Amino acid sequence: MIDPAAELPFFYGSISRSDAEQHLKLAGMGDGLFLLRQCLRSLGGYVLSVVWSLEFYHYPVEKQLNGTYCIAGGKSHCGPAELCEYYSKDADGLVCSLRKPCHRSPDTPIKTGVFDSLRDNMLQEYVRQTWNLDGEAMEQAIISQAPQLEKLIATTAHEKMSWFHGKIPRQEGERRLYSGSQPDGKFLVRERVESGTFALSVMYGKTAYHYQILHDKSGKYSMPEGTKFDTVWQLVEYLKMKPDGLVTLLREPCVNQNNAGQTPAVPALRTPRTNGYTPPPKVPGASKILAPMDRQPLPMDSDEFVSPYADPKELKDKTLFIKRDKLMVDEVELGSGNFGCVKKGVYKMKSKHIDVAIKVLKSENEKAVKDEMMREAEIMHQLDNPYIVRMIGLCEAEALMLVMEMAPAGPLNKFLSSRKDQVSVENVVELMHQVSLGMKYLEEKNFVHRDLAARNVLLVNQHYAKISDFGLSKALGADDNYYKARTLGKWPLKWYAPECINYHKFSSKGDVWSYGITMWEAFSYGGKPYKKMKGQEVTAFLQSGKRLECPANCPDPMYEVMNDCWIYKYEDRLDFVKVEERMRSYYYSISKKPPTEASEDATKPKSED
Ligand code: AMP
Repeated sequence: MIDPAAELPFFYGSISRSDAEQHLKLAGMGDGLFLLRQCLRSLGGYVLSVVWSLEFYHYPVEKQLNGTYCIAGGKSHCGPAELCEYYSKDADGLVCSLRKPCHRSPDTPIKTGVFDSLRDNMLQEYVRQTWNLDGEAMEQAIISQAPQLEKLIATTAHEKMSWFHGKIPRQEGERRLYSGSQPDGKFLVRERVESGTFALSVMYGKTAYHYQILHDKSGKYSMPEGTKFDTVWQLVEYLKMKPDGLVTLLREPCVNQNNAGQTPAVPALRTPRTNGYTPPPKVPGASKILAPMDRQPLPMDSDEFVSPYADPKELKDKTLFIKRDKLMVDEVELGSGNFGCVKKGVYKMKSKHIDVAIKVLKSENEKAVKDEMMREAEIMHQLDNPYIVRMIGLCEAEALMLVMEMAPAGPLNKFLSSRKDQVSVENVVELMHQVSLGMKYLEEKNFVHRDLAARNVLLVNQHYAKISDFGLSKALGADDNYYKARTLGKWPLKWYAPECINYHKFSSKGDVWSYGITMWEAFSYGGKPYKKMKGQEVTAFLQSGKRLECPANCPDPMYEVMNDCWIYKYEDRLDFVKVEERMRSYYYSISKKPPTEASEDATKPKSED
């Protein structure tokens, strides 16, 4: 994952305070000389190191829950670059304004932190082991939830470190320290047998010293009275630079021969799927089994993340038309439309029963409606993505029935309008990022949806969205990039791009426009776009260059994406590859911070690294 500061020529990465001071010394110690480095204490934060009157000043830059960055007590900024630019114009509480960036020399690359180089492999391993995902589904899981996964993994990354010796008694720790050479600062971390807390054993003057690592209620690790860290490995890295009460700095790791080169044990954190795959065997030695309620549910916890036919046993029996005796239709109606109603049900598969939503065609319906439903089924049959409602099959019995995966929390617009106080803006960004992932998949497969709207985004739960309603969708020919409608239909004009209305040309760029309107609906918590305006009034409004206003409390970067989806000429409009990229980078930027960090008082001065 790319650090948002990676582009800055005065960003040094994970260097210590004394290294920072060394770079500033070499650059002349002029007043206002500055550099930026990774904060070694909190995930996602920075430290700004500044020179004034031949002295060094180090300001921690905190990343807040809403994704902005600030120096304790100062103004918030949307990124580290913007923050530095701001303080270059106005000291605003710093010892002086930032006058001269201390650029990295060509032979000084950005120093990657100990976790940076492990992260990607650990993410993959974690997703594979925890949810039994592989291939495309694994990639989708990582892309959609990387910040959350990273947080989960960061807390166990120490298990991968050579100095971590797992659960061993103190005597065994000593034995390992005393074997081989015994330089000052040789160290290991072990899990204490009695309590499961961690202890640090370090060699000094040929003697082993033992320290308990404290773990407070908010989940932070520290030495007694020392600086607090989100993770054990950050504490260790810090103690390599500052003794923080220890008899010596940590220097050489006492390498754990037993686990060198092994895959780390990852904690099993998944909510067991009730009717999906059998969970993979728990990893032996997994140290922490966190209850699912300890964290927000992730899409991968739901059965609906992978197709029920991903199981080869089920795939063998897959047919477009399913047998009536395998389907139990409940009387509960989930919704309705002109075709008929959508009912709840259960589909009995070979090795599991799954909850389904069943679109039941009213028998008195004319042939055109039946044809439309068959076309919808044909489209859905070709799609398989975690962020799109999958079709299970068609059933022809007392009525024609389209059997789909169940999205029990219902349409996004209704969900948001009834839970304004419970759903954070970050949560809305998360869901809209998932919608962009589903749309990127459709664009890639050359399908146009033609009815993307908040009413057609269904929720599996508060943190998992799927695109539905493919009644108007079309598969484009291999060489076509748009579909030309020959007849007008009952079209959702307020969601349509100008070229759809004026020339009946439908492409993925038209879907991008609709995505912008869907975003607007989501960020206005189920608001109605263009209020009481009629279709023609909307057309004139758009032609005059006007656009929907920014919903209250909608973050600026999100309104910017909407406006870029509403570029009049489709050639100049974003495509879904770009939309997803923009949604992802904003979503990652606001969700990287561990909750314990983020919920602390941002204005409270903190001790820095
Ligand atoms: P539709 O005609 O496809 O828009 O469906 C009408 C309504 O039925 C939707 O607004 C939902 O409330 C409900 N519905 C449709 N499909 C599903 C599904 N897969 N899971 C749960 N509810 C659904």
